[in-house]
Amino acid sequence: MSFLEYAPAPESRSVLHLRDEYGLFIDGEFRPGSGESFATISPADESHIATVAAASDADVDAAVAAARRAYDRTWSRMSGRDRGKYLFRIARLVQERARELAVAESLDNGKPIKESRDVDVPLVAAWFFYYAGWADKLDHAGYGANPRALGVAGQVIPWNFPLLMLAWKVAPALAAGNTVVIKPAETTPLSALVFAEILQQADLPPGVVNIVTGAGATGAAIVRHPDVDKVAFTGSTGVGREIAKAVAGTPKKLTLELGGKAANIVFEDAPIDQAIEGIVNGIFFNQGHVCCAGSRLLVQESIHDDVVDRLKTRLSTLRLGDPLDKNTDIGAINSAEQLQRIRELSRIGEDEGAERWSADCAIPDKGFWFPPTIFTNVQASHRIARDEIFGPVLSVLTFRTPAEAIEKANNTPYGLSAGIWSDKGSRILAVADRLRAGVIWANTFNRFDPSSPFGGYKESGYGREGGRHGLLAYLKGAAA
Ligand code: NAD
Repeated sequence: MSFLEYAPAPESRSVLHLRDEYGLFIDGEFRPGSGESFATISPADESHIATVAAASDADVDAAVAAARRAYDRTWSRMSGRDRGKYLFRIARLVQERARELAVAESLDNGKPIKESRDVDVPLVAAWFFYYAGWADKLDHAGYGANPRALGVAGQVIPWNFPLLMLAWKVAPALAAGNTVVIKPAETTPLSALVFAEILQQADLPPGVVNIVTGAGATGAAIVRHPDVDKVAFTGSTGVGREIAKAVAGTPKKLTLELGGKAANIVFEDAPIDQAIEGIVNGIFFNQGHVCCAGSRLLVQESIHDDVVDRLKTRLSTLRLGDPLDKNTDIGAINSAEQLQRIRELSRIGEDEGAERWSADCAIPDKGFWFPPTIFTNVQASHRIARDEIFGPVLSVLTFRTPAEAIEKANNTPYGLSAGIWSDKGSRILAVADRLRAGVIWANTFNRFDPSSPFGGYKESGYGREGGRHGLLAYLKGAAA
């Protein structure tokens, strides 16, 4: 027991006005789905939150038809300036309903309220504000005069940042003049459904954004729909591969934002206290359910023991528990399946000879939980150094020279992100230049900004989201 015990500080759920049942949001209205409805539950205590409709192929057809009508009749005829006004309105409504959205997100996803409140929802608003600004400036974006929208965008997103991934997809698509059919992940549909109410409040013309809930089959129906012009997917590399196959040979444009196994490289001259915070933020933020998480710590051999000791001390102070408590640092794992995967890979890590250390925290009786965990003595060939665990598990490897650090960092099928910690700017630039990763942070980690492009190499996918590059994927004539 520590000296400083925190009194419970739960965020009130009363700001959230949930319906018992949610339909599909098609053509500006909620309507029943013809697939079998499913429950969305709280991963923190497994309690039922709401019943959600599942979209069948026929429902996806209706959503795509609504998006096509809206594209032909309203959205593609509207000036960029007017489209921008809608996006500004959505951004402001997200800010107005920020607390409610944060509670919905933490309830459904399991992430700590301080993250959904201070990171996810503000970034959602920022994304809409940013792309609202682009809507009337497409002529000046560098793609020539009068760049044209693609038409109907079919978008499928994962459960780790449900509303933020929606914003990353919807905001640039609308700014560029496309209409949208989007599917949130089956374990986290709630914030997208609250967002549908925001679209109604914003008086967005019916059919411009359609939100269909359901599992993989619903996503597959969107991807293969013949009247979809553009597919944007964020999720696992396995599903991304299937989608690439389904889209191959069609005129559809495709962007894939997939998995990662980022190296966070700490040199002996790094500011160690900041690096420890950066390592913790890199892998324990959002329970490690982060595609660009710094899940492989590459630490210079001379400081390995010191860094590991400090990390253990720091992790012992993290508070695991109720996601709605404002003092919580580590929330719940999003689903029983994900917990199973984290446990399985951790077991394999032990079997392969790595040394496991887990923070000694009380695990709640109900719900899905995994303590912050570090593996040392990890070899580059170990599964825990190669596979994406997507949980609060850090694999620690060592290096002696910058060349060895670069070689080890690039020794992965992925290439989404990386971190470099050093006092020397010249070293940071030299190393960054040789890393095969789409995003590289220096003396920080997990920083996001709507003006900055994000995306990967190799099995982390292709295409960029964010910034001017993010518009490219939604405009004709421009490479995806
Ligand atoms: P997932 O691939 O299982 O599911 C993602 C989405 O795809 C869900 O909505 C799911 O219902 C849908 N889906 C499943 N099968 C489908 C199919 N055959 N066709 C179409 N859609 C289908 O991934 P997940 O477990 O929800 O998310 C975790 C993964 O997402 C991790 O690998 C993570 O790295 C990745 N991710 C990547 C980024 C990025 O920007 N690169 C961001 C967040 C998450």
